Amino acid sequence: MAAEVADLDDDVVDRLSHPERVLELTLSVEMDDGSVELFEAYRSQFNGARGPYKGGIRYHPAVSRNEVKALSGWMAYKCAAVNVPYGGGKGGIKLNPASYSAGELERITRAYTKELRPLIGEDRDIPAPDVNTGQREMNWIKDTYETLERTTEPGVVTGKAIESGGSAGRVEATGRSVMLATREACAYLDRDLTEATVAIQGYGNAGSVAARLLDDAGASIVAVSDSSGAIVNEDGLDSEAAKQHKRNTGAVTGYEGATSEVSNEELLTMDVDVLIPAALENAIDAEIAESTAAELIVEAANGPLTPDADEILSDRDVAVVPDILANAGGVTVSYFEWVQNRQRFSWTEQKVNDELERYIVEAFEDMIEAYERHDVPNFRIAMYTVALERLVQATAEAGTWP
Ligand code: NAD
Repeated sequence: MAAEVADLDDDVVDRLSHPERVLELTLSVEMDDGSVELFEAYRSQFNGARGPYKGGIRYHPAVSRNEVKALSGWMAYKCAAVNVPYGGGKGGIKLNPASYSAGELERITRAYTKELRPLIGEDRDIPAPDVNTGQREMNWIKDTYETLERTTEPGVVTGKAIESGGSAGRVEATGRSVMLATREACAYLDRDLTEATVAIQGYGNAGSVAARLLDDAGASIVAVSDSSGAIVNEDGLDSEAAKQHKRNTGAVTGYEGATSEVSNEELLTMDVDVLIPAALENAIDAEIAESTAAELIVEAANGPLTPDADEILSDRDVAVVPDILANAGGVTVSYFEWVQNRQRFSWTEQKVNDELERYIVEAFEDMIEAYERHDVPNFRIAMYTVALERLVQATAEAGTWP
């Protein structure tokens, strides 16, 4: 749809429907009991025209070649949407990390990095955390790469621990961009954020940080949930106390500051001003989309609306701030981490947050400019149009080899 709006050449759009390169691996790794196990692993590099490939590494039993290819494209559009100079990438290993010891996971990660070595590098392809990977895995990737390359190159990977070259503000970055996108959308829609009620599905990294920052900005967080269920307080939940309760007990349910508990489905259709899905993809299907009450939905999760739900909400004139903008704080601060690594100079947290705000606000303005200029039905098509135009321009300027 965005390609039609931007009136692009079919050949270029076809090119941007496929990754440039996909590496498929079979890793052989020794287990703690001395046996050797095989693991299916991938890395997809989507488009290199705007800069090095960039994207997370996922450890999950559902990892597949097609999933990795699709997610690498998603990253290419996300990087273009917020104008960070990267193409998309994504990698993964098909496994359930809960079934392996820390030592086994370290050997698996190092075996994977050894195979990725010719493809990655701070000017080539820069992995990051994704589902079930975090600072620990990124530190192992950096160490393996640097040891084999006999160099110091912290910018080969982002999402590292601070002492290993990570950035201040990285942990909060995704929730912060969700807050900024919500604030900008409320201003555009002429809604007062300090009067707004908010429900958040998913209270992990993205959801709980967004809750605290929106709370700080004056909004009232009336419901939050995790896989255990949802807690409600019409007068506003204390987002930090609810997080502490989840830290202590493993769940948001049972929190004493709540006045009632409802199901996750009920949370999604609650009478609130802003709904933030921050858990899983496809959380809002056509049936739920028919009965949501919020006039603004901000996608903290990747792909939380099914395509049918997206169409229904668009027809119902519910404003949806798309994931490629709302949760792009993670990749934007990853970019700042890489910049700092290359400069061998650390920014203060304030500088990271100020620069993040500038990037997200500018991307929001670019989206609104495209929304109004092309007169498209929703923000998602507008944001994809901006991203696609940037990708197409860079791809066309690179030209083709004879
Ligand atoms: P997380 O694992 O920290 O938190 C996920 C939360 O969702 C947990 O509280 C979990 O209990 C809850 N949950 C799981 N199933 C649920 C269900 N059926 N109903 C309600 N809640 C459920 O993960 P995260 O890092 O916060 O990521 C959440 C989403 O944000 C994902 O879609 C992820 O791809 C996206 N995202 C995260 C980042 C980041 O930097 N963390 C960046 C970009 C996108």
